[in-house]
Amino acid sequence: MFLSKRILVTGGSGFLGSHLCERLLNEGAEVLCVDNFYCSTRSNIEHLLGHKRFELLRHDITFPLVVEVDEIYNLACPASPVHYQRDPVQTLKTSVHGAINMLGLAKRLHAKIFQASTSEVYGDPEIHPQTEDYWGNVNPIGIRSCYDEGKRAAETLFFDYHRQHKLRIKVARIFNTYGPRMHPNDGRVVSNFIVQALLNKPITIFGSGEQTRSFCYVTDLIEGIYRLMNSPDHVIGPINMGNPGEFTIRELAEKVIELTGAASQIVYKPLPHDDPCRRKPNIDLARKELNWSPAVPLAEGLKKTIAYFDKMLSTFKALPETSEPYRDNPGEGVMPLV
Ligand code: UDP
Repeated sequence: MFLSKRILVTGGSGFLGSHLCERLLNEGAEVLCVDNFYCSTRSNIEHLLGHKRFELLRHDITFPLVVEVDEIYNLACPASPVHYQRDPVQTLKTSVHGAINMLGLAKRLHAKIFQASTSEVYGDPEIHPQTEDYWGNVNPIGIRSCYDEGKRAAETLFFDYHRQHKLRIKVARIFNTYGPRMHPNDGRVVSNFIVQALLNKPITIFGSGEQTRSFCYVTDLIEGIYRLMNSPDHVIGPINMGNPGEFTIRELAEKVIELTGAASQIVYKPLPHDDPCRRKPNIDLARKELNWSPAVPLAEGLKKTIAYFDKMLSTFKALPETSEPYRDNPGEGVMPLV
């Protein structure tokens, strides 16, 4: 008899988590989705609830979890600055206590475990593009530190469990990712710009708009994560995952205006503290070890994301006040989660 793998996905109803759950179900796995719904929505996984190999558990991974699984994908953590700065202590606990709890679980079960790390471990990088051997330039006491340092500590924990307990680990450093199921009001640049454009509201560029980011479409990223998890045991990372195409934030704004046909003006707002000037992954390692590189160009991914938000806006008729980002008052303006 064919026995499917039992796979735990923490943060499974979030933006990335929900796409990953779908992918794993398509691969024939039994999926246990764990989420505390702090900044994710049930609607992301509603369509999976009737699936016979899908199970949802409301749980906060800062507390121990006792379940029986074969593999763990640890994605739980608010990832947008607005969300992770709303309760920074909880953010740090989610990364650190969450990693300890999940690593402890993996150790008991002899399960392979994946960690969603981040390009934020590079901070405001002094080398460009960023390679995995760069140790980063992170402010330990700034407003982004709860996320950056939490994810750095989680990486340390993963590598110590690997060295000390021979745990099979997989660590990906995920660069900016976008696509359907991003929260419309999580304050991130792609969702902000698209929602603003669709509502014909001003597009808010923070700073001069000369800062750069590299945007990876969600299905590309999920493919990379899946390949890493299923790569030979000696491939443990950290391994960069992102799209090496680099754009200024102003270029992104112009592209979104062009693709939506919006009448929006661009307005300039202050740059939040510690906002990295530039970011672009070197993905040579992922190409070599996983034969992976992103396939979806920005314009194509943006069209799909625009279609998603357009449908959402026409279903709910309005979105808010809310698409206005409030970087200096985290939490304000965040839409109630459904
Ligand atoms: N940004 C912007 N307008 C917005 C939201 C973000 O200009 O409405 C900028 C932000 O200051 C940063 C970049 O876009 O320079 C990416 O921001 P995001 O929060 O999406 O990701 P991160 O800063 O974590 O890379």
